[in-house]
Amino acid sequence: MATEKESRVKKSLELWKHAEDIIMDGTQLYSKMASVGVKGVSPVYFIKADGVYAWDYEGNKYIDYTMGLGPCFVGYNNPKVKKAIQKQLEVGTIFSLPSPLEIKAAETLIDIIPCAEMVRFLKTGSEATQAAVRIARAYTGREKIIKGHYHGWHEWCLADTTKNGGIPQVYKDTVFEVKYNDIDTVKKLFDQHKNEIACVIIEPIETELPKDNYLQKLRDITKQNGALLIYDEVVTGFRFALGGAQEYFGVIPDLAVFGKAMGGGLPLSAVVGKKEIMQKAKNCIFVSSTFGGELLSLAAFLAVVDVLKTEPVHERIFKIGNHIRDEFNKLALKHGSKIECIGLGPRLDFKYRNIKEQDDIYVKTLFMQEVVKRGIFFVWNMLPSYKLSDQDVKYTLKVFDEALKLTTEAEKNGTVKDLLEGEPPIKVI
Ligand code: PMP
Repeated sequence: MATEKESRVKKSLELWKHAEDIIMDGTQLYSKMASVGVKGVSPVYFIKADGVYAWDYEGNKYIDYTMGLGPCFVGYNNPKVKKAIQKQLEVGTIFSLPSPLEIKAAETLIDIIPCAEMVRFLKTGSEATQAAVRIARAYTGREKIIKGHYHGWHEWCLADTTKNGGIPQVYKDTVFEVKYNDIDTVKKLFDQHKNEIACVIIEPIETELPKDNYLQKLRDITKQNGALLIYDEVVTGFRFALGGAQEYFGVIPDLAVFGKAMGGGLPLSAVVGKKEIMQKAKNCIFVSSTFGGELLSLAAFLAVVDVLKTEPVHERIFKIGNHIRDEFNKLALKHGSKIECIGLGPRLDFKYRNIKEQDDIYVKTLFMQEVVKRGIFFVWNMLPSYKLSDQDVKYTLKVFDEALKLTTEAEKNGTVKDLLEGEPPIKVI
């Protein structure tokens, strides 16, 4: 590693060191830790953001393809969202009684989300997936659940990970994780745990497309077994269609969870679903939140929906996202790189493979290093805003071209590790 070079984010790293000393984990979200980027090269702190751009602590400007890890799909400082927040700020952020705004926001969700006949607002994705699973357990009278990889930081989601400290063993026995598209494991679990599974909670799409009618098969198998199908649309919600990925794919779950993009950058989440289920569950469960009806976020949500309804948001995000993916893969082919861009326009990811087609953390690190140094920022995957201009996309592809060329040449010359100016990214779970 080229250690002699002074880090371009030296000041930030000093700040991070102090943060680690006084904030548990250094920050509030694992995906924002200094170690998720190329430590020593990637920005560590952003101090300002506008549109699709963010500025780091050192003053460098980036095109941001992560957009707050998803919340700012309609762009940082979206004028309509900002105006709605300012207007609401004048009359109040929270009261001692509910505001009629809660009803307006609920009616809006019911209007646009196919499975929504009733809703409940919360603040974070984790809270809302927790509420959904509790509703499913209460409604079915069953304890076991089948889940995807990440739905939040609660016990049932982390019991089987390396970060399961403080989680009672009992959670492990009631939760089964399945990989996206693995319908055979789902079938096996339903056979092995007859009349015991309350729900299947999965993201309707991660980056792999549903294969062989996966979502419809899940819909059928849950129905046949008296279990609920829950879509975790914390990431996919509002990105794939106004009505979420359920509208995009046309397979409708019993319950669904939204977060991230719905608040336009403010903290808001919701669990929505069939009235019969939520009405029955409400008699025996307790879900309650002081800030659940906080009004700036609800006002922001209504403005987000207005943007999505009045601007060609989804047409644009599929167009530019798919274009970036296709052009990236053409560039990779041109340079002989085996790094691949996968997914659909609203949510892209990369498979970081070396020229021998093996997963390779050093190839990933070098590629990321060269991309970020040229002012393109993303964390694990790309959750772009539809506000990217054609110019932004053009510049991004130019950067990818240069980074792919440099990385592939280094692979061929055996100099990948020599060219690294920072440490490989680390994923916590
Ligand atoms: N579900 C999914 C699919 C997520 O990606 C996340 C967060 N990244 C969550 C749930 C949890 O959301 P939050 O961080 O707002 O609690």
